[in-house]
Amino acid sequence: MGETKPVLPRRYHRLRNVLNRRQTDLTVLLEDVNKPHNFSAIIRTCDAVGVFSAHAVYEQGKVPAFSETAQGSQKWVNIHSHPDLQTAATHLKRRDFTIYAAHLSEKAVDYCTPDYTRPSAILFGAEKWGVSEEAMALADQAIYIPMLGMVQSLNVSVAAAVILFEAQRQRLAAGYYDQVRLDSETYHRTLFQWAYPELAAAYDKAGKPYPRLGDDGQIITHN
Ligand code: SAM
Repeated sequence: MGETKPVLPRRYHRLRNVLNRRQTDLTVLLEDVNKPHNFSAIIRTCDAVGVFSAHAVYEQGKVPAFSETAQGSQKWVNIHSHPDLQTAATHLKRRDFTIYAAHLSEKAVDYCTPDYTRPSAILFGAEKWGVSEEAMALADQAIYIPMLGMVQSLNVSVAAAVILFEAQRQRLAAGYYDQVRLDSETYHRTLFQWAYPELAAAYDKAGKPYPRLGDDGQIITHN
């Protein structure tokens, strides 16, 4: 695969520290959140909270481009684009996720009520239309952030930050960021992709397994 400059040890250990806190069982499901700055801001918040993968469904099938607001966070959060809501919900429910729809409805409970230490996916709706009826039917529980002003809703990225940081608060209290929560295979695969993105793409293209990394991130074996 040719010569590759080794990742700097300091960067490698920083990547590990971030990966050590990633939460595979906390996620967002974005339904047509189509303004690039909102989509980008949500992904940036996901990175800050430790979300490993985010999920999205777009009517036109196209995930928005990232804006500067993302600040590169899209490199550190996997984004799964699903063809439709049913596919996304089935994917999440098979993995034991409870889907919470962030939506002001009669049956909604305050966003601090759920136990987000359990596998939790927070569904957010489009800027203009909110969460669709179809998505509401697939969700397990609606949650709302109390609004005491004149305007009825928050910007979607603000709502996402409020709810995700409550999830982070609960998970910090439960010690979820003090232990690695990724399985070993996912951990090592992701670490290699983060440390050597171009090389990882070349290995993927060749259908070859990634080489092992040494204690400071140096490549030990080339296949
Ligand atoms: N007109 C839309 C409606 O009636 O739902 C407003 C959509 S709001 C700008 C975009 C998304 O942000 C909503 O679908 C919801 O997911 C989230 N959101 C905004 N304010 C919220 C709140 N107070 N509680 C829960 N979710 C909220």
